[in-house]
Amino acid sequence: MRNIRRLSLRAASAARSRAIVNGLIARVTRFNPMSETEKINLLDLNRADLEAFFVANDEKPFRARQLMQWVHQRGIIDFEQMTDMSKGLRGFLGEHCCLELPQVVSAQRSDDGTRKWLLSIDGSDNAVECVLIPEKSRMTLCVSSQVGCTLNCSFCSTAKQGFNRNLTTAEIIGQLHLVHHSLVKEGHSQGVTNVVMMGMGEPLLNFDAVIAAVDMMCDDYAYALSKRRVTISTAGVVPAMERLDQVTDVALAVSLHAPNDELRNQLVPINKKYPIHKLLAACHSYIDNYKSRKITFEYVMLKGVNDSLEHARQLVGLIQGIPCKLNLIPFNPYPHAIYQCSDQEDIDKFRDYTSSRGIITVTRRARGEDIDAACGQLVGAFHDRSRRREKYQLSLKEIGGVSIAH
Ligand code: SAH
Repeated sequence: MRNIRRLSLRAASAARSRAIVNGLIARVTRFNPMSETEKINLLDLNRADLEAFFVANDEKPFRARQLMQWVHQRGIIDFEQMTDMSKGLRGFLGEHCCLELPQVVSAQRSDDGTRKWLLSIDGSDNAVECVLIPEKSRMTLCVSSQVGCTLNCSFCSTAKQGFNRNLTTAEIIGQLHLVHHSLVKEGHSQGVTNVVMMGMGEPLLNFDAVIAAVDMMCDDYAYALSKRRVTISTAGVVPAMERLDQVTDVALAVSLHAPNDELRNQLVPINKKYPIHKLLAACHSYIDNYKSRKITFEYVMLKGVNDSLEHARQLVGLIQGIPCKLNLIPFNPYPHAIYQCSDQEDIDKFRDYTSSRGIITVTRRARGEDIDAACGQLVGAFHDRSRRREKYQLSLKEIGGVSIAH
């Protein structure tokens, strides 16, 4: 009977494997602390990590690809059904590892076809939501990266619930797994075609877990989505945007929402730490080396706040030199919101102005409002959130110094 070498450095002979295993220790222990008795959730591991794991346990690296195909492409999470693995290996995996997905608490469908899943994670009062937006030619899944959010954007309802914790890689990729395989079972053979990290949370403040999940979204042995079809959306965590450039080239969306620092400080408080000129410099570097890349700027339309022609003029001045498109998002209301959505006429005028100055501008259609599935309406309503609120108060104190893992 072999003993599992969870992350044994001894067993990883090549320097490359050692580096991977070191990274794995950091990642897995950070998000999923292991004791000798606790099983490793293999959904936390991208291909490089899985290969290192198998090598460390005297198996060939190709086992990683086999496992990923079973799990992500065929939707099988029972080791015993993985028939191209030996009985011994299946037993070993069953004894020491697991493939644990978030639990579906509820699934809702909007009149316009938008669907929302409420998912319970770690069987506790932690819940997150993900939203599927079906369109003629694509099925876009909006994925959450954190339980709550620390950023406290003044117009976002996720902010109001505070911050509880980062999602693990397994919990992030698990959202795609659940929805993709539900669609396939329902007869939509293509499943999810696009992923946007625009659900709850700030993806760049959960950097390592998000990147490992994004790796799997794009991996040929998993979901094989093209990098153009995976979008990370950020409120502007500048150092993490710089780091992102080193590790991936998926599409980037930036939640700008205001054309000057004075207003953006009020709407998106992280602007106090990373003001607009720093944010735009990071946008430039993200696309500079890639001719085909464009940044998507998101701009929520708030009545009487950021929606005048003067704001449009300032905005054009800011972004005109950047290969980009502009998404105008009509504000989605929620109880006790202090803002209202701009009038349609003003949204159209704003769009006409920016378009006439050469900025590709699209007004995003609100989807799923009747089930609170639209942008900024996701709150993961589930259980009592008093603990979350306490953490939120603490996190507010830290907003001036948002911590980012380097
Ligand atoms: N933290 C990331 C991703 C999550 S929010 C970010 O800030 O980009 C996804 C998008 O929805 C962001 O552009 C956000 O600003 C926008 N949004 C949040 N609340 C909204 C609301 N009530 N109405 C419309 N858009 C909203």
